[in-house]
Amino acid sequence: MSNFVTEYTTPSGFKLNLNTALFINNEFVAGGSTIDTINPVNGEVIATVQAAEKEQVDLAVEAAEKAFYGGWKKSTGRERARLMNKLADLCERDAEELAQIETLDNGKPLTNSRMVDVQIIVTQLRYFAGWCDKIHGKVIETEGKLSYTVHEPIGVCGGIIPWNLPMGMLSWKIAPAVATGNTVVIKTSELTPLSAIKVAALVKEAGFPPGVINIITGYGHITGDALARHMKVSKIAFTGSLAIGRQIMRASADSNLKKVTLELGGKSPNIVFDDVENLDEVVFWSRMGIFFNAGQACCAGSRIFVQEGIYDKFVEKFKALAASGKVGDPLEADTFQGPQISQRQFDRVMDYIKAGKEEGATCLLGGNRVGDTGYFIEPTIFTDVTPKMKIMQEEIFGPVVCISKFTDIDDVVKKAHDTIYGLAAAVFTSNITRAVTLSNELEAGTVWVNCYNIINENSPFGGYKQSGQGRENSEYALANYTQVKAIKINVGNPL
Ligand code: NAD
Ligand code: MN
Repeated sequence: MSNFVTEYTTPSGFKLNLNTALFINNEFVAGGSTIDTINPVNGEVIATVQAAEKEQVDLAVEAAEKAFYGGWKKSTGRERARLMNKLADLCERDAEELAQIETLDNGKPLTNSRMVDVQIIVTQLRYFAGWCDKIHGKVIETEGKLSYTVHEPIGVCGGIIPWNLPMGMLSWKIAPAVATGNTVVIKTSELTPLSAIKVAALVKEAGFPPGVINIITGYGHITGDALARHMKVSKIAFTGSLAIGRQIMRASADSNLKKVTLELGGKSPNIVFDDVENLDEVVFWSRMGIFFNAGQACCAGSRIFVQEGIYDKFVEKFKALAASGKVGDPLEADTFQGPQISQRQFDRVMDYIKAGKEEGATCLLGGNRVGDTGYFIEPTIFTDVTPKMKIMQEEIFGPVVCISKFTDIDDVVKKAHDTIYGLAAAVFTSNITRAVTLSNELEAGTVWVNCYNIINENSPFGGYKQSGQGRENSEYALANYTQVKAIKINVGNPL
């Protein structure tokens, strides 16, 4: 194992032992090639991790299959819960190290890594640990037969996760799967492999049987593709771009019709009525809605619609608050926004800003790079936007927001729905009728009223339209990791 440990001291003096191996069958093994992972603050290489190729994907899937049939499938809920709670305790014990790793690899403010990312993994594990011994079916009355259902695990579940919430998404894929008796092979993003391999060491320490949780690093088109096409993977859960989501479905269709759940981002509308009581609070939530995580959030409120009467006032306050946030070193406590994840994402976002200007929108704030190293972009606001502009239609996944006006409910519903996506939406109003009417009307998997970005482990999350399929979090997630069997017993009714 020592072959794979890189020692690293963070700029703030925190000493890290970074494991750079693939975690297969509770062992740390080499990959077919390697990946350099960088710190997006300065572009410097932090560590070189292993990249799995098809051969290592096969090993991981075989380990998971062996663990499934070798006992996990029939393990007691009590035992699964004990291990999951143990893992949660270990994540909590090593919370600071996990947070430091996440910030180093991803660039998000350390305060966020501590208060959001580490908390997500701990709460996911504990929440789904609670379900382990509560998975059961129904007894159904039939004609002279005893009919009942059992909810059985599916088998080996693959998870392919993105770089914007690496630890959070890791736990969203692991927790419901393992709780319901499946085994997993998770592929992390090539841009943020480090926190997951720290978690891998904790999986082993917690005492999970070998092969129940396998975590591999690697490239999408190699490792991810091999997992998505694997004949022994029975289900795949993916979070990432729409383009790759389509490929995952194709890979399933071309291989074994594995079950697929997808979470593919959005272009979420954030609707502000002129009756709001406290405009400062609305501005606070709206700014958090788009600029949290440097805009790299699937549910980002990237289209703000403001009712005519309050438009000028909202824009003025929103601009002032957005401009006040410190963009810079994520290790400093007062930093609001870190860098984008990579040169590629930086270029993508800058290209959208260019497109917005070329299409005639007004760049009211920002639009430029910050500093000359790393991938920092100013919080950027566009006004005078029209519905068909690229910046109003496509997911930018950066600190860029479009603000426009609306007249009444009918007008704003039409505008809000002018997108292929349907992940989330928000409504700010003090009128209960408007709040309920719109909440019912909006085509989105989550609707926030007078708040934004509130995501809980016990409440479902997922997309309408092309934002995805299936739900994560909550009891609803269990259905994606179980299959229902109907059993019918003839009770004294021979003919
Ligand atoms: P991506 O979809 O390429 O990557 C997501 C994951 O899929 C990564 O682990 C990647 O390695 C893997 N992957 C890539 N190609 C694959 C393939 N052919 N088969 C299997 N797995 C594969 O996303 P990206 O390129 O990192 O980001 C591009 C855009 O995607 C962003 O700008 C944003 O719009 C969107 N995105 C959305 C989310 C979200 O939370 N929904 C997260 C990340 C990115
Ligand atoms: Mn990185």
